[in-house]
Amino acid sequence: MSFMEKSDRIQQEIKRSESITAVVQLMESEKNFDEILDTAFNIIGDYLEVSNIIMFECKEDRVNTIKEYVWGDGGNIAETLSPYMSDILNKRPDDLYIVPIGEMATEEEVKILSNLKVDSLLAIPLVLGGRPVMHAVFAENRKKRVWHSNSILFVADICKVLQTILEKKISNNSLVNSYTALREILDNIGSGIYVVDPKTREILFCNETMKRIVKEDMVGKHCWDFHLGERQYDCDNCPMINNPTYFREVYDNRLDTWFDIKNTEITWVNSNKVSLCTMTDITEKKKYEKRIEFQANNDFLTGLYNRMRCESDLAMCIEEAVVNGGRGALLFVDLDDFKHINDGLGHQYGDLLLKMISVGLQQIDGIEEHCYRVGGDEFIVIINPDEIGKCDKIVSAIMQLFDKPWCLNGAEYYCKMSMGIVHFPDEGNEVHELIKKADIAMYDAKKSGKNQYRYYNAKEEDKSVKRLDIEKNMRSAISVGCNEFEVYVQPIVDAATAKCVGGEALIRWNSGNLGFLGPTEFIPLAEHLGLITPIGSYFLKKACEANKRWSDMGIDVHLHVNLSVVQLMKNSIVEDVRDIIEETGVKPENMVLEITENLAINDMTRVRNIIRQLKEIGVSIALDDFGTGYSSLNYIKQLDLDIIKVDRTFITDIVSDDYAKVFVKLITELSEKLNVAVCIEGVEDKVQYKILKKMGVKTIQGFYFGKPMPIYKFEEEFLGIKE
Ligand code: C2E
Ligand code: MG
Ligand code: MG
Repeated sequence: MSFMEKSDRIQQEIKRSESITAVVQLMESEKNFDEILDTAFNIIGDYLEVSNIIMFECKEDRVNTIKEYVWGDGGNIAETLSPYMSDILNKRPDDLYIVPIGEMATEEEVKILSNLKVDSLLAIPLVLGGRPVMHAVFAENRKKRVWHSNSILFVADICKVLQTILEKKISNNSLVNSYTALREILDNIGSGIYVVDPKTREILFCNETMKRIVKEDMVGKHCWDFHLGERQYDCDNCPMINNPTYFREVYDNRLDTWFDIKNTEITWVNSNKVSLCTMTDITEKKKYEKRIEFQANNDFLTGLYNRMRCESDLAMCIEEAVVNGGRGALLFVDLDDFKHINDGLGHQYGDLLLKMISVGLQQIDGIEEHCYRVGGDEFIVIINPDEIGKCDKIVSAIMQLFDKPWCLNGAEYYCKMSMGIVHFPDEGNEVHELIKKADIAMYDAKKSGKNQYRYYNAKEEDKSVKRLDIEKNMRSAISVGCNEFEVYVQPIVDAATAKCVGGEALIRWNSGNLGFLGPTEFIPLAEHLGLITPIGSYFLKKACEANKRWSDMGIDVHLHVNLSVVQLMKNSIVEDVRDIIEETGVKPENMVLEITENLAINDMTRVRNIIRQLKEIGVSIALDDFGTGYSSLNYIKQLDLDIIKVDRTFITDIVSDDYAKVFVKLITELSEKLNVAVCIEGVEDKVQYKILKKMGVKTIQGFYFGKPMPIYKFEEEFLGIKE
């Protein structure tokens, strides 16, 4: 090698290492890859003196030009080259690839390149993630070029550096991008997020939502400055910090907001373990849950708790009583004849009454939170063991609540109730058992004449089993046409002559399964179940048929038939009676309908109206059991009654009790003035009869003259009808 050659070589070496150093320095550049390529290509071009340097980006099926550097007067070739490059590069995508014409290239490649007047081409891949993403292509289109190994190594080195720069740029970029994206996500997320150092309790991070919740930036402050929900907070034992993962729902009364707080342990940027807390506003969800809970536990009409809540509260009270050795009570309240209000005034007034009763119950001291509506007109009151001392007071407060009339639609109405009382745990420690027992006691109160309370009595339980039995049999007796029900007649006599002037038809049930039952055993249940209507109609028809038969024989007597309150308040009562009278052909003036006094007082206008219409049919109306309810002579006049039947309780005492005597006498005298007939019930002996006769009483009924008996017997004994 000559000196000149040597010196040239050294010059080349120096230039080469300067160029490489310059490109390596680009690794620290803040510039983007595109700008870096500009600089790098200039450096390379200077050194190699090659006509074109192109950076191609390799996509799946095509090649894009990113940048082209043209040296001297070579002219651009990238655009013309790029359609063929994918063919060329895809063959050996990962390799350094040299195309000195005629040496390494295939014939086809040579053809393509010579068409482009590219004499020589060197392609070097930039590999990222094991895949060539770009190719640096060095081409000469001006003259023949031989690629020496020195140049090839140089280019390969430069491309390695470019690849590293590209790698760094991409990873930096994606980090910055993903950090920005993360920040964006965190700030826009609906939940508040903050990070606490569990050792120092310092808040290291808080997102925008969190700032909005606490109305300040928490970062750098202590977490105990932000204890949502709890004012007095035991920071040292904060479960959020002390548990690596923690979850709870907290209500903050200052913000009137419910939060769902979750706590997870994560590794912070400094590799320390920290608490990541998220707070989500769940107030809406809570409200919804509350509404659902309210609907599940409360009666929609009255707002009182419902049966479900009653059962769960009762279970708790029983347990409390058992555990602490206490005693509680369950009161079962069922309205008496609520149907009349509903049927008579319409459902909206029935509903109103139920609401008024509910308000009244809740105002009673000791049971404010323990009143439940468990059925249409059924209420339960639980007296928990703490309040049991007030039990008697509560019971009488409930009775008093129903003592006064209720104001509905501008008028006053009475609605009474029957109540059953059972104590726990002595009379039962199971929810359904207790409710059943209280119901039995309530029913006992109903049977005893309503408007009263009864304590549970184990003996009644047998009867209650019977009650279900009665219900079942009654339904089937009705379904086959009521003919198990029979008409018995008790004579009514003229007091002066003791001659029979009529009779009262009294129902009996000759049940195939249950035997012979008197009305007190099934009428209240029939009323309660609404079964009195079919039974009552059947019975009235049978009584009318009998009376018709008698008058056909020339015997005209008054036959009394009892109408239940439930029947009387039915809208169709007048029509029903008229139909039966017409159908049987009985003389209406021979029929007397007995209604009870309690009812008459309750719904005056309505009853007066019904009575007027019934009388228009031609039947007479008697007021039964007079003296037991809200006796008022005024009503007798107002209701335009024909007969009043003085209850037998007065007669029982008439011999010994002066009040009874005076009462009966007074009624008798007054009734004459009011033009109403009086019938005295329950005369059992001669002494009673004599006293009454002396008083000038018109008609009398009682065992002394005859007990209720089958029709044929009454016909035989009192009407002189023989078969
Ligand atoms: P009520 O209408 O007051 O009938 C009179 C009741 O007193 C009858 O009882 C009768 O047997 C009884 N009695 C009559 N005289 C005497 C006496 O001297 N001493 C005694 N201790 N009792 C006497 P019964 O038949 O058991 O009827 C009871 C109640 O059942 C009736 O009282 C009436 O309210 C009701 N009832 C009877 N039949 C019917 C009916 O067909 N429909 C309706 N809705 N209720 C009826
Ligand atoms: Mg009667
Ligand atoms: Mg009576």
